[in-house]
Amino acid sequence: MDFVKRHIVSPGKTPHLKTVETDESGPFKDKDAAKQFTAETVDKIRDLQYRMFVEQKQSLLVVLQAPDAAGKDGLIRKVLGQMNPQGCRTYPFKVPSSSERAHDFLWRIHKATPAAGMVSVFNRSHYEDVLVVRVEDLVPKSVWSKRYDIINHFEEGLMERGTKILKFYLHISPEEQLSRFKKRLENPDKHWKLNVGDYAARDKWKDYREAYEEVLDKCSTRDAPWFVIPADHKWYRDASVASIVHDTLVKMDPQMPPVDVDLDEVRQLYERELNQQRG
Ligand code: ADP
Repeated sequence: MDFVKRHIVSPGKTPHLKTVETDESGPFKDKDAAKQFTAETVDKIRDLQYRMFVEQKQSLLVVLQAPDAAGKDGLIRKVLGQMNPQGCRTYPFKVPSSSERAHDFLWRIHKATPAAGMVSVFNRSHYEDVLVVRVEDLVPKSVWSKRYDIINHFEEGLMERGTKILKFYLHISPEEQLSRFKKRLENPDKHWKLNVGDYAARDKWKDYREAYEEVLDKCSTRDAPWFVIPADHKWYRDASVASIVHDTLVKMDPQMPPVDVDLDEVRQLYERELNQQRG
């Protein structure tokens, strides 16, 4: 199955999120089949990431946005965080600090973008500045409404430098979210995740949905697309994102750099050392 085609938001074809299924299971006959697929795909991602790291020309930026409990952390743990940490960094974006707020909204973001050869994973992102900021009325409309263009220009600049950008919205149903909140309540190891604000955000589900739709509509571009990932099944979420990241790296086609040493000379040096060691 082509997960890119299935879940990409093509410019001009923004879906109504209310009508997009959240519990898709794709081609997988069961959870184990999906997990097997994910494990194999993650291995392939790692090989390609290694090539990109050594090539030092291109980079990859993965943006994750989602309602609470939709599984950003799980996706990072099981898929994106499985890349070689030498070449991959994860950046969580929380409520801006006072120093961050004293700058333009992209200041903290730009510093986290990937250098050549690297992967950056954004756990929340600059899109919060047109999502939570809009829904919670944190700045006037005259301010946030200009940000879609600013974001598009910013992302164009990153792409110009060789950064490929993938943006994922993890799409869960309010019912599945509530059931995950219940599991958090029942599991003391998850109590640290409890947050009264998460319940307040449920009252604004429709407002968030509209805000997300506008993001998809204005900022899913041909070269920096958004994907809407059905996320009620964790195993489908992981498998589909893994597949999209893998296909993207295949297209980027990172190459090992040409060898710039004389291999014969190195072999001779090796033989000499070996002979000396043998005495
Ligand atoms: P997470 O839910 O990502 O695991 P937290 O529970 O710490 O992490 O939540 C981070 C909070 O920071 C979220 O409520 C999010 O909306 C908020 N946040 C992130 N970026 C901004 C921003 N630019 N302005 C206001 N709030 C933000």
